[in-house]
Amino acid sequence: MYGKLVGEEDEALKKELVITIDGPAGSGKSTVSRILAKRLSYLYLDTGSLYRAVAYLVSKEGVLENDEQAIYGLLKSADIRLRKSGDGLQVYVDGEDITGLLRTEEIGIMASKISALPLIRAMLLPIQRKAGASGGIVAEGRDMGTVVFPGADVKFFLDAGENERIQRRFMELSTRGEGIPYGNIARDMRLRDLQDRERTIAPLRPHEEAVIIDTSCMTITEVVEAMLGFISNS
Ligand code: C5P
Repeated sequence: MYGKLVGEEDEALKKELVITIDGPAGSGKSTVSRILAKRLSYLYLDTGSLYRAVAYLVSKEGVLENDEQAIYGLLKSADIRLRKSGDGLQVYVDGEDITGLLRTEEIGIMASKISALPLIRAMLLPIQRKAGASGGIVAEGRDMGTVVFPGADVKFFLDAGENERIQRRFMELSTRGEGIPYGNIARDMRLRDLQDRERTIAPLRPHEEAVIIDTSCMTITEVVEAMLGFISNS
């Protein structure tokens, strides 16, 4: 597997700090991570995209999502690349830009199931660590502070009440024209949360040093400013 972050050699991106942002779906971490990375001129690493890219591949090839060996084999010959694009990332699998196909609920649930497989997590680990090797990165996911970058300079854990997170996801999908009923979104989010929190390997939980921010009653700007405050005082 050739996981590369195109542009990681860019001198302009090589700054000091490694900042991690973990949290459940709908906690606001993607939006906030992207803005924070931009404000700091850091690289934004969306690790959920990697797991989603694997899910895409698994679904495309018709492999069972719990068949660890088959997925392992698939990944060994796959070429997954993340390319910096504006404030975000584009994801390529075997040369195909699949960015626009990854943000569905279906791919999210499949990614969550696949992400509980130890072999697959182990394969994705060096790609993520390599991206953060020179610092100057905002790394977003579920295990950034606990597993991938335990030595990170600043670790955040964003959370929000369940209803708020479901509402945010509902609004996000509605804005994108995906008319998924509220009840289905609530069911899917609860399922994904449960899977992510209760898996044995790299479960979703805050690192003991993490700054925990409950974003339920905060605007995006307030969250970003609070984080910048913590970063400048760290
Ligand atoms: O953040 P996003 O919703 O894109 O992540 C999709 C799924 O990928 C999560 O539900 C989680 O199961 C998995 N994931 C993970 N570890 C990460 C990032 C994502 O297990 N660092």
